[in-house]
Amino acid sequence: MVASDGTFRHVSSGDLLRDAVKRQTAAGVEADGYMKRGELVPDVLIAKMIGDLMAGISGPCTLLLDGFPRTLVQAEVLDETIGRCGAELSAVVLLDVEDVILVDRIAGRRGCPKCGKGYHVTNIPPRVKGICDACGTELITRKDDNPETVQNRLAVYKAQTVPLIEFYGARGVLRKVDGTGPLDEIVERVRQAVP
Ligand code: AMP
Repeated sequence: MVASDGTFRHVSSGDLLRDAVKRQTAAGVEADGYMKRGELVPDVLIAKMIGDLMAGISGPCTLLLDGFPRTLVQAEVLDETIGRCGAELSAVVLLDVEDVILVDRIAGRRGCPKCGKGYHVTNIPPRVKGICDACGTELITRKDDNPETVQNRLAVYKAQTVPLIEFYGARGVLRKVDGTGPLDEIVERVRQAVP
């Protein structure tokens, strides 16, 4: 979307939903069961959250939407929202990673429930095992990072999100980025891929 100062505002649909679950808002209560099972929450629910967020932005801004859209319906709603805001979709980044690597990353993923900083037990370990470097809080594993839910999330991705590759590919906005290797290199590749 419209680049102003070269910085991105990162918006993760998963983070928005986890925050709503934590605060027990109506949307959070509805989303909770879907998330625990590794299913997508209803399109209308997440589309409204993203739409409200975008409507609340004043002035130029570059948004990096992470995890949204995940279905064709969401992609269509995003088009409408972008049109209403007078914005522009500049690129869609597909982070390309084999399933076996994804499963390993998810199995080792840990997060700080207080400040939100993310870790991986071997790839991005905290200085003290199980403790957040930034705020000293005990790290946790996400409820939906267990092996059964992860397999379901991969199946849901293939069934409902993979069609977006063709959808955005046909428009010429899709950028396929190698999502393997050190984190800073992946971040740099994403930066290069986005105009
Ligand atoms: P993530 O943090 O992106 O891995 O998302 C965690 C969970 O939140 C997913 O497994 C879904 O249950 C839900 N979720 C996140 N983004 C979306 C979305 N765009 N559409 C539907 N469900 C979503």
